[in-house]
Amino acid sequence: MHEAAIALAVLREAEKLAKSLAAKPKLVEVVVGELQNIDIDVLSEYLRMNLREVMPGVEYRITTEPPVLRCEQCSHEWRLDMSELSPDAREAIHFLPEALHAYVRCPKCGSRDLKVVRGREIRVRVYG
Ligand SMILES: [Zn+2]
Repeated sequence: MHEAAIALAVLREAEKLAKSLAAKPKLVEVVVGELQNIDIDVLSEYLRMNLREVMPGVEYRITTEPPVLRCEQCSHEWRLDMSELSPDAREAIHFLPEALHAYVRCPKCGSRDLKVVRGREIRVRVYG
């Protein structure tokens, strides 16, 4: 149930951001890296249930962001299109992001010595 804990952290962050906003907050956007092992539907449900108590009248939107990888051998950096992976690979990576190294190679030099630059974090934005 770590979606509940994430939802709570998102709400706290949204409240904090809303305070520093000059205008009245209207929309909370949650950007989830695709390497985060979370169930978006469950997270969405928690936000739907709790946001109206914390910030009445504010809408929310969850968007996902493809991972950005960097090759440690040749420094090539690219966005990984998860839809190009096999369903098995996608599932493995969803549950264990480290499994990425077993399925993905650098498109330039073929190395598996990859670093995840982006894709594991959750960012919160509040719009007025
Ligand atoms: Zn490379």
